[in-house]
Amino acid sequence: TSRSKPAVITVLGATGSIGLNTLDVIARHPNDFELFAVTAHSRIDTMRQICERFQPRFAVMGSEHVAATLRLQLRELNVNTEVLSGEAALCNVSEAAEVDTVMAAIVGAAGLLPTLAAVKASKRVLLANKEALVMSGQLFIDAVRAANAQLLPVDSEHNAIFQALPETVQQNSVSTDFAKHGIRKILLTGSGGPFRQTPLADLGKQTPAAACAHPNWDMGQKISVDSATMLNKGLEYIEARWLFNCQPQQIEVVLHPQSVIHSMVQYVDGSVIAQMGQPDMRTPIAYCLGYPERLNSGVQPLDFTSLGELTFGQAEAARYPCLQLAIDACWQGQAATTTLNAANEEAVSAFLKEQIAFGDIAKICENTLAQSELSNITDIEGILDCDARARRVAHSLIMRG
Ligand code: NAD
Ligand code: MG
Repeated sequence: TSRSKPAVITVLGATGSIGLNTLDVIARHPNDFELFAVTAHSRIDTMRQICERFQPRFAVMGSEHVAATLRLQLRELNVNTEVLSGEAALCNVSEAAEVDTVMAAIVGAAGLLPTLAAVKASKRVLLANKEALVMSGQLFIDAVRAANAQLLPVDSEHNAIFQALPETVQQNSVSTDFAKHGIRKILLTGSGGPFRQTPLADLGKQTPAAACAHPNWDMGQKISVDSATMLNKGLEYIEARWLFNCQPQQIEVVLHPQSVIHSMVQYVDGSVIAQMGQPDMRTPIAYCLGYPERLNSGVQPLDFTSLGELTFGQAEAARYPCLQLAIDACWQGQAATTTLNAANEEAVSAFLKEQIAFGDIAKICENTLAQSELSNITDIEGILDCDARARRVAHSLIMRG
């Protein structure tokens, strides 16, 4: 395809798994996209290579210290990218007037303000950063509605659901009316992660390396651990609730170990529409970048004759306690989901540093929820405050061991 004018893009979290896959798709369509800004926390080498190759106007780093190093390296290479640092700069490159599209692919709560800045500036927002939506829920969706921003889900499950919805619903999917469109349920599929068949008695002592070795997907560390606990599916459940305006009983989690079906929509007439494909994030990324057109993503076509069996089941409660925690939090209210997300980020980070055992992640999430005062939240300051309080509680639980 070639459009009249290239879309101008900012990629938040450009050095991550989603960010690099996004750049891979963009590079296949040099006439359709122009890179305005890329951001990263600390990976200077990867950022330098990105700047050399794509020559973006801006690169934003996490601190002035790393920004200064990158600035020197780019100057030596005669690359004109301007290097900035800090959260205000992240927001600036998201809301800049020149920008059409923002890929929100920072991991965790750090992505909230820059993603919201893109929403408020009415950009086309490609949302990978599920934690931003989980921690701010209704406020995020209200901002999307107020700014009339176009929110396209990158997360493979939500992208699959979006693809399986009628076009009229896609135009305003955050206000999906299930009854009006004959939608019965969203079927959210999940592989069950690397420990689906691990004996329950051995589950608690799994290592970070084992937790990060996902059977089907190659992803960043945090989401890999979330997939092993299935809290990722829990965050996705909350994400689906907000993205598609769901009520309780309208989302069901289905275990599907092969990750061929990426999720489904069940209609009142008995039809089920599924989206299938390789477990390669370039497919949903290309879908969002090109929407409503289809772009070549570099992903190999699915060969059904060599696929073998597709199987389905239910996630065992005893194996995945984090999943039910998230589902309960979803319908309990904003403070519960903000608290759970923050506690989990702290617990996963401690697990990756080998300060706690794999089995402690669920306990820290559960105990943080139990020990937090879950008061009503009405603004973003309230969200950030709740997030900070939950992190303090989780941290003290981690230190206590
Ligand atoms: P990653 O760890 O590979 O990359 C994270 C990116 O965020 C990096 O560019 C990093 O520099 C940046 N970053 C990290 N901490 C930051 C901070 N404090 N401030 C600013 N930038 C920071 O993660 P990923 O796997 O690419 O995931 C990114 C997001 O996409 C997550 O929210 C994840 O849940 C979601 N997602 C990922 C996948 C996947 O396949 N990887 C699939 C679905 C959804
Ligand atoms: Mg997903």
